[in-house]
Amino acid sequence: MTVYLHEEDLPAGLFAPGAAIAVDTETMGLITPRDRLCLVQLSDGGPDEHLVRFGPGSDYAAPNLKALLADPARDKLYHFARFDLAAIKHYLGVTAAPVYCTKTASRLVRTYTDRHGLKELVRELLGQDISKQQQSSDWGGPELSDAQKDYAASDVRYLHRLRDELDRRLVRENRAELAQACFDFLPWRAELDLAGWPEIDIFAHV
Ligand code: MN
Repeated sequence: MTVYLHEEDLPAGLFAPGAAIAVDTETMGLITPRDRLCLVQLSDGGPDEHLVRFGPGSDYAAPNLKALLADPARDKLYHFARFDLAAIKHYLGVTAAPVYCTKTASRLVRTYTDRHGLKELVRELLGQDISKQQQSSDWGGPELSDAQKDYAASDVRYLHRLRDELDRRLVRENRAELAQACFDFLPWRAELDLAGWPEIDIFAHV
């Protein structure tokens, strides 16, 4: 199991065509237009993870990464896709769909709990422990620490296995179609965030 760090773009042809790719992002903070995109993490479910780092003042050209993210024949797996989709759209200019979101799936099947964080999902569904210690660290510095790299990689390491288990539960509870409709809407939910409706539920009565 190896974590590879790439600067400004992925190498071409890294992943088999059509393979689903787990995607996560690290930014300088939670306000997308203010807080620049620093890192995109990717995994095809195999033993390695790939990190693409963007420096301050990056032009975010990244043609190989953009082609991968925009590929309509390749599912992208996220945990809380809404945030990553907005960051990717804002900085890389692509809609990184088709989408699968493990947090959304969890909300639709794990109705017995309000704990839908990645750490909790990995613990309950896969019986493994991941640390969230580096979550709020400085992703914009010139060197990423080994702890940061491992943390960043762990955010995409389990998403394929989580999807398998969540899909079983979605089918069991007859909510697979509802989940798919939610996943399909997520790029638009991210567009609403970017367009000025970040915390407003436009479906609410008041
Ligand atoms: Mn992350």
